[in-house]
Amino acid sequence: MYATNVIAIAGNPNSGKTTAFNRYTGARQHVGNYPGITVEKKEGFAHLDGIEVTLVDLPGTYSLTAYSMEEVVARRVLAEERPGAVIDVINTGVLERNLYLSVQMLELGMPLVLALNMMDEAKAAGVNVNYKRLEELTGLKCVPTVARKGDGLDDALRAAVELAKSTAGRIEPLVISYGSDIDQALNEMVPIVNSVNLLTDRYPARWIAMKFLEHDKEIIGRAERHDSATSKKLSDIADRVTAHLKATLNINPEAMIADYRYGWISSILKNGVLEGADDILERTAFSDKLDKVLTHRVLGPIILLCVLYGMYFLTIEVGDYPLGWVGSFFEWLSDTVGSALGDGALNSLITDGIIAGVGGVLGFVPLIMIMFLLIAILEDSGYMARVAYIMDRVFRLFGLHGASIMPFIIGGGIAGGCAVPGVMASRTLRSPKERLATILTVPFMTCGAKIPVFLLFVGIFFESNKPLIMFMITLGGWAAALIVARALRSTLIRGEPTPFVMELPPYRWPTFSGVVIHTWERTWQYIKKAGTVILGISILIWAAMTYPGLPDDLHHQFEEQREALAAQSGLSEEEMEEQSAVIDNDEEAASLENSFAGKLGRSIEWITAPAGFDWRTNIALIGGIAAKEVVISTLGTAYSLGSVDEESTTLSDQIKKDPHWTMANAVSLMVFTLLYSPCFVTLMVIKQETARWRWLFFSLFFDLALAYFMSVLAFQMLS
Ligand code: GDP
Ligand code: MG
Repeated sequence: MYATNVIAIAGNPNSGKTTAFNRYTGARQHVGNYPGITVEKKEGFAHLDGIEVTLVDLPGTYSLTAYSMEEVVARRVLAEERPGAVIDVINTGVLERNLYLSVQMLELGMPLVLALNMMDEAKAAGVNVNYKRLEELTGLKCVPTVARKGDGLDDALRAAVELAKSTAGRIEPLVISYGSDIDQALNEMVPIVNSVNLLTDRYPARWIAMKFLEHDKEIIGRAERHDSATSKKLSDIADRVTAHLKATLNINPEAMIADYRYGWISSILKNGVLEGADDILERTAFSDKLDKVLTHRVLGPIILLCVLYGMYFLTIEVGDYPLGWVGSFFEWLSDTVGSALGDGALNSLITDGIIAGVGGVLGFVPLIMIMFLLIAILEDSGYMARVAYIMDRVFRLFGLHGASIMPFIIGGGIAGGCAVPGVMASRTLRSPKERLATILTVPFMTCGAKIPVFLLFVGIFFESNKPLIMFMITLGGWAAALIVARALRSTLIRGEPTPFVMELPPYRWPTFSGVVIHTWERTWQYIKKAGTVILGISILIWAAMTYPGLPDDLHHQFEEQREALAAQSGLSEEEMEEQSAVIDNDEEAASLENSFAGKLGRSIEWITAPAGFDWRTNIALIGGIAAKEVVISTLGTAYSLGSVDEESTTLSDQIKKDPHWTMANAVSLMVFTLLYSPCFVTLMVIKQETARWRWLFFSLFFDLALAYFMSVLAFQMLS
């Protein structure tokens, strides 16, 4: 389809396309109209090194949207007449604006050569472009030109002809992030586009999906004629995202996508391409001023650490009050339901299995909600994108990519994310090796499911410096991720680092409704998971801890003890009650130990003892592979089953009372929870994203071994 000997000349109006075209073609050109429309079509022939090249002078456009006839024509020629390559003529004096079109051609998968035209004017105006650096960061051949004099034009054409040959007219389309809402929608839409090959013979699938988000009438119209049912599905997703962005950030997807494209460009220009870029880029003067401080070499990282610490400080200080209320509520609920149901398995299922299990997870909702609120503010304001920018230099040292940071943050790098979307977010990494290293290390982040485990034990054993310890756990996750990534990149997945371009969208004031909606969405996810997955697992684990119950002879022994107690004379009523409670307790404990889960937990105690885990912790950790919240819910059930106190108490109080638990056990458990095997869903996503079972098993066993080693180390040092 493509034609290697056809080269298109594209660019903004007045960038010098026609001047270049005339220089190339001389008299060998003809002018007509595109069929049916009045847009001028110019074609001509150039001779270079003995071969004839057909040149097409595209109409000048700033963009490839469908707002004007020129844009529609330009993009049709690119996608349908398929020139072998494009010479993108750029007015170097306004590089930022001109690159906006280049980004869109790259998204379309066009092989580009950048002709940095009007170099003479740019230099005279003091614009200093380091085009070698630009080549490095974009991977595009850049040729400085002065079309009016003919300087550099042959080099540009030669590069374009070579590129056409080497790429056969198509490159892997540029994938940039447009922010998490749009990225997630695109990830959802691309498989739908691919499932029916909706216009994919001409356009990349992600590009088609993006046009739905941009409400591009032309492409949507064609898609509808091609397959209306599929188009409807895509439009529905686009409408949903549009409504969401409107409600949260008061912006439409078109503008959001444009922001991120410009963010990509400005990040390139600031990365050593434009000298004094900060003063030249005017579009976001306010953002740039703010960035001078927030992304400053030295101040940036310090501010980042302060933000992280501040977040935990606020979460914990403010969250302490509602945490107490919720705890009391579940105690009350358990007592009320417990006494209403009378003795028996149903009572135990509901109070020990469900309320103690799920309630333990739900108890942290107030804290989680405050944390999500703070994260929503950081994200909606555009600060999260800066974190990536700040961390790039650090990441490079560890063989990761600046673009690995978004997956890390989504996975819980600041706190409270989820590794599943985190692993999927790694799709924006183009180098497969860096992507793999990212996928395998995202699960070390402090995701929302691990947070309650940390909050519980930090609350018990580090009363006086809770925020500090939470902060350190988060940093511990980062350290583990970076060190493992470094090790992987020096062994299993060795390879050169690729250049990094990170979108830096402008800062915005978060809107009130945006923050509220984002906070609630995440909190609701947490609650929903507790009410479904965690509920299901809690019931299973309760059953595994309850059955088969005591063998008859043991049961008899306890009955005998009770009879003996009843037969005793001379005891006060109080003493009787006390002693009978001791017997009840012993029986419960014996029953728990004899249960399936109890036996399983005991059977591996010899392995886990060096890390300070008893059989209860073992069961909790095994359950945690299903979902990390289960660590909490299982401990809740185990302690609730193992005690028949008159008054129910919170898990936290029970752990405080249990002599087994020392600071060393707690730290060891937290280290283990932070590092050990990703949860089931994450494992499946790792398999899906890497297309290899090998990496699923690697994550499962390597992370487990690492966690075990570190926990043993921690426990032995502290105890
Ligand atoms: P088009 O709209 O992209 O086709 O741009 P034109 O080729 O019509 O050029 C617009 C103006 O810029 C004309 O006046 C050209 O003479 C001038 N021009 C083109 N290339 C250069 C260059 O490299 N340096 C300078 N100084 N002027 C140029
Ligand atoms: Mg022209």
